[in-house]
Amino acid sequence: MTQVDIPLIDCHTHIGRLPGVVGEVFYPQDLLYIAAREGARFMLVSSATATTVGQHAGTDEVLAMVARYGDRLGGMLWINPHDPTWESDVDRAAQAGFYGIKIHPTLDHYAVDRDALDAVFAVAREHRWPILTHADNDGTPMSALKYEPLIQAYPDVVLILAHLRLEAIPLAKRYENVFVDITYVDPMRVELGVDALGPSKILFGSDACEGFDVGHPVARARPPRSYAGLLEGLRVRGIADAVLEQICYRNAQQLFQLAP
Ligand SMILES: [Zn+2]
Repeated sequence: MTQVDIPLIDCHTHIGRLPGVVGEVFYPQDLLYIAAREGARFMLVSSATATTVGQHAGTDEVLAMVARYGDRLGGMLWINPHDPTWESDVDRAAQAGFYGIKIHPTLDHYAVDRDALDAVFAVAREHRWPILTHADNDGTPMSALKYEPLIQAYPDVVLILAHLRLEAIPLAKRYENVFVDITYVDPMRVELGVDALGPSKILFGSDACEGFDVGHPVARARPPRSYAGLLEGLRVRGIADAVLEQICYRNAQQLFQLAP
């Protein structure tokens, strides 16, 4: 397996029980396998068990992961604001040194607005946690644009809108606290994103383990991917190595205050 030739932090990975196919489950060891073989330095990890099973079950998985592998896998607290008891996970996550919050309004079924997410953004502000969110397709009740009132109300909360949607570009351009990630984004769109935003607003993410070789069969086969392959796709679009290094490493290091 080709190792990546630039330092890489993957800001968007998951363990746990994934939605869609019962039995598709990934463990911290699967991410460590990818990191060792393909050369990722650090991964920020939330558990999809939070949406398929329950908020606290997901948090428990990430707490156990951080206790064992916290030097390589960083915890992200997946919050489902429907769960009236979600706030009881916050102190546990903070004490374990989690790096941020993950939300997924599509999988957790809620429209994005201040009523739904004020309390989550308030916790992010209090703990200085960036929020990584699944921005859904443009024009839906969970799309990037729906975050604008929250972005304005919480200018000190870093918000990363995943999947580099078109609606996210003007937001990341206008607001200092807004960033995008390139999880599952076509390389041509990344090229346009770099042109529109510059490299400082864009972070590398992948949704690993989906599609990656984890050394054993998985319940749902997906088109195969690798870090080296993803980087190669970006290089083909003419994205220079200095830009790649900022996207793949330095921005995440800075936003999540990771040691070099
Ligand atoms: Zn994801």
